Amino acid sequence: MLSLRSIRRATVAAVGLLAGFSALAQEQVLNLYSARHYQTDEALYADFTKATGIRINRVDADDAGILARLRSEGASSPADVILLVDAARLWRAEAEGLFQPLKSATLEARIPAKLRGKDSGSGSQWFGYSTRARVVVYNKMSVKREDVDTYEELADPKNKGKVCTRSGSHPYNLSLFGAMYEHLGAAGAETWLKGVVANMAREPKGGDTDQIKAVASGECGIGLTNTYYLARMLRSDKPEDRAVVEKVAVVFPNQNSWGTHVNIAGGAIARNAKNRDAAVKFLEYLASDPAQAYFANGNNEYPAVPSVKLANPALDAMGPFKAELIPISVVGANSVAVQQILDRVGYK
Ligand code: FE
Repeated sequence: MLSLRSIRRATVAAVGLLAGFSALAQEQVLNLYSARHYQTDEALYADFTKATGIRINRVDADDAGILARLRSEGASSPADVILLVDAARLWRAEAEGLFQPLKSATLEARIPAKLRGKDSGSGSQWFGYSTRARVVVYNKMSVKREDVDTYEELADPKNKGKVCTRSGSHPYNLSLFGAMYEHLGAAGAETWLKGVVANMAREPKGGDTDQIKAVASGECGIGLTNTYYLARMLRSDKPEDRAVVEKVAVVFPNQNSWGTHVNIAGGAIARNAKNRDAAVKFLEYLASDPAQAYFANGNNEYPAVPSVKLANPALDAMGPFKAELIPISVVGANSVAVQQILDRVGYK
């Protein structure tokens, strides 16, 4: 039998439930799919929530995992903002229609045009928030700096048997080669990549850090790496990392010509974002001074916003450098042609 007390209890519970629902309805959320997972990113997200009241739900996966998830979720995807690393991947996601354009005066003022997706009238589909350079590391005992201070020399017969890289098809290399394709033309890029393959000390394998270690051990004379992998090792106090960095030197290639290849980590609004306003706020927040500092420092990268200056001892030690001026969007768009060349020249 229903007692008065149990009715009262049920009423209190129902009212509580309703209050809960309306709080839920009012609470703004942002669903973030991120390929970046760094300690300082926690502070980045917490500050955004503090400033806007928008709660961030995060899905962490690697870039390939995020793209696969977006494809399979389709129109029902809860994703609002996507963070990816590398121009080739951002370009691919845009080409597959996984993003939507954004016209933002804030972002146009803060992020240089060459670090944004191409604006075909309705805005850019993605925005770069940090940059990393793709540099040459060489063994100080066996290689002379003047023999490796351009990307072109990686293909020079004088460097036969010395070059080590990760897979040619890895997005970091696809982007560098996409830039070389722009500088050298299709035929020039093919000749160059053929020369690089002919100079290899071993089949491409491992990640960038593995190339640095192989250069230190002497298995390779010359390697390619993103700056942050080297910076991470330079800042490490592990004896084994100290031993590695003592044996290698870094060179920012092509300082006397077009400059060193630079890539980005970037963000975009998902095609089917349900919380678009929150997504816009978040992308604009990422270009603010404090967010830029968190974003870049978290992975030893350079801020995309030119006026933001960071004190990062490892990057400072590597020194300032001249970056190439090719728009990142062009580099990404060349990745399809580059992959075909890689298949022809046998660059695994
Ligand atoms: Fe990486």
